[in-house]
Amino acid sequence: MDDSIKRFDMAAPPRRTKWYLRGLIPLLCAPDLITHKNKLVKTGMEGIKPPYLLLCNHNAFMDFKVASKAISPYRANYVVAIDGFIGREGLLRDVGCICKRKFTNDITLIRQLRQTIKNGDVAIIYPEARYSLCGTTAVLPSSLGKLCKLLDVPVVTLICHGHHVNSPFWNLHDRGIKPTEAEMTLQYTPEQLKTATPDEINARLVEAFQYDDFAWQKERGIRVKYKKHAEGLHKVLYRCPNCSTDFRMTSEGMKLACTACGKTWTVSDLSEISGDDGYTEFSHIPDWYEWERQCVRDEVLAGTYTTGVLDVHIDTLPNADKFLHLGNGKMIHDMDGFKVTGTDTEGKPFELLKPPASLYSCHIEYEYLGKFGDCVDLNTLTDTLYIYPHGNDFSVTKMALATEELFNATVGKVKNNIPGIA
Ligand SMILES: [Zn+2]
Repeated sequence: MDDSIKRFDMAAPPRRTKWYLRGLIPLLCAPDLITHKNKLVKTGMEGIKPPYLLLCNHNAFMDFKVASKAISPYRANYVVAIDGFIGREGLLRDVGCICKRKFTNDITLIRQLRQTIKNGDVAIIYPEARYSLCGTTAVLPSSLGKLCKLLDVPVVTLICHGHHVNSPFWNLHDRGIKPTEAEMTLQYTPEQLKTATPDEINARLVEAFQYDDFAWQKERGIRVKYKKHAEGLHKVLYRCPNCSTDFRMTSEGMKLACTACGKTWTVSDLSEISGDDGYTEFSHIPDWYEWERQCVRDEVLAGTYTTGVLDVHIDTLPNADKFLHLGNGKMIHDMDGFKVTGTDTEGKPFELLKPPASLYSCHIEYEYLGKFGDCVDLNTLTDTLYIYPHGNDFSVTKMALATEELFNATVGKVKNNIPGIA
C-alpha cells in the first residue's frame, strides 16, 4: 500500500489521564449513569488499589462510563480500536486511551500495558475486542491467562448488564433501560496468579464472562417501551428458521419477517420472539443466533462455505484523521478465508489475504456511520480496511460467524492469541 500516507503511531507510550480531564470525566459520565440508575456491586475489591488489570465485557459506549465510575478516583489506560479515535486522537490520548487495530498481532500493546502498570494505573481491556452482536459473550482470546501472569497484578472483571438491551449493536436507539447493573469482581490476587496455570486462569475468566443480556432482561422483567425495538434485529437473525433461506429477513416496528416464505414473528417488549403462525422456532434471540452458527459450522465442516465473489466498496483508515476512499474492489470469503482485491490510493493494485488460521474472529458493523451499509473491518498492522459489499446477497453476521468457525475448524479448539503472547 501507499507508503507516503501518515500512519497512526501505534507504539506511542500510554499517557496518564490529564489533570483537567480527571475531574471532567466523571461529570461527563454521570448523566447517563443517573438516567439508567446504574447499580454497581463490588466483590473482593476491599483494599485493592491500582495498578490492576480490569477486564470488561463490551456491549455499548456506556461500558466506558461504568468503568470510569468503577475505578474512580484512579486513573486508567483503555485499549480502544482506531475508529474510536477518528478526529479526536489528541483528546483520547489525553484521556488515556491506547490505540489498537482489532484482531492483529501487535506486540507493542504488551509494552504499553506494562507501562500502564508501571505508572500505577488501571489497565482496562475489552477482551471480546468487539461489541457483542446479541448480548451474549463473544469469543475471548485464549492467551488471556498468560497476559494476566505476565502483568502480575490483581485481575478484576467488570461485567455490565442491560447495555445491550438498552442500545443493541443492531439498533442503537437508547431504550431507557433501568436499572442497569454491573459487577466488579476480584478474580485473582498476584499471589493466586503465581500458583494458577494460564489454562486455569482462562477457564475462570471465560466463566466470569458468561452473560446473556436478554435472559437478564427477562429475569428482571424490564419491559422496553420503544415501539421499533425489533428494527435492525434481522441484521443478526439473517437466516429464516422456517425455510432456511439466508439474507431474506427484514424487520419493522416489533416484527421480523422472511420475504422468501412470508413467515412473520413478533418481538415482545421483553425481547421474546413468537411466530405469528403459532409456531415459534426460537423465542430467545441468542438461541436463534447460535442455530445460525451451527448452520455455518455445518457448511464449514462440509467444505462448502463461500460468499461467492462480492463487489465491494473499500475505505481505509491509516491514521485517525479521516477515512480514505479506495473505491470499488472485490471480496470473497470462503474456505481459504478472506481475499480482498482493489487499488490503493496511488492506483496500484493490492490484495489482502486473511487465511482462516490468522483470524479467530472479526469485527463487523451494521449501517456503519450511516453511509454505505454493513461492512467487515479487516486489519493489517498499519491499516484498517472497511469493506462494504454491494447488493443484498450477503450477511456480515454470517461472515463473522464463519470467521470463527473456520478458525476453529482449522486450528482446532479455540487457540487464539492476545497479540504478542503465543
Ligand atoms: Zn423463510
